[in-house]
Amino acid sequence: MVQERLIYFKTLCKILQISELLCGRVDGEEKYIEGFSSSHFILIYAQGKAFESIVKDLKADFKLINVDDCYTQSEIDILDSIDRKLAMILKNSQRINLTECKDCKVPAVGAFCHLCGKQIETKLKICYDCNQVYAPSYVYCQNCGKELSISTKFYYDYEDPEDFLYGVDLEKTDIADEKD
Ligand SMILES: [Zn+2]
Ligand SMILES: [Zn+2]
Repeated sequence: MVQERLIYFKTLCKILQISELLCGRVDGEEKYIEGFSSSHFILIYAQGKAFESIVKDLKADFKLINVDDCYTQSEIDILDSIDRKLAMILKNSQRINLTECKDCKVPAVGAFCHLCGKQIETKLKICYDCNQVYAPSYVYCQNCGKELSISTKFYYDYEDPEDFLYGVDLEKTDIADEKD
């Protein structure tokens, strides 16, 4: 069975049109792979062999920029470009929203709808037949028409734009343990 977390990550990259990933930043035991768009920052992390298998998989579809290789000018360039992208977020009033209020059908950027006050659904939807993830507001799979399942593990997280944190929630588990 395909690893769910990786599917989420790849799908979100596709939705957000992210093609380059910063690979290998270390924090404690975890190694990170991070993607930046003009409006979003998403990441996936794992340890040891699990991390290596993620890298191998992502290599097919993305340009991976290894942070170990770039403690030089190229690293500075990368960080600069990330900085610029993040700065754009503050100016960008039309951020991509993956959540919306079920009742009002308006994009939502917080925990509650700004029009009706209802709690916003933030759990991602998944079609297990197509291995495709969808925004929380989606009901049916666009490929096969089946009703989507609600993910029990992952959700779309919105925080204040200044925190630059969007994307999938990543529990502190090794991806190798997540196979269904
Ligand atoms: Zn509403
Ligand atoms: Zn489907």
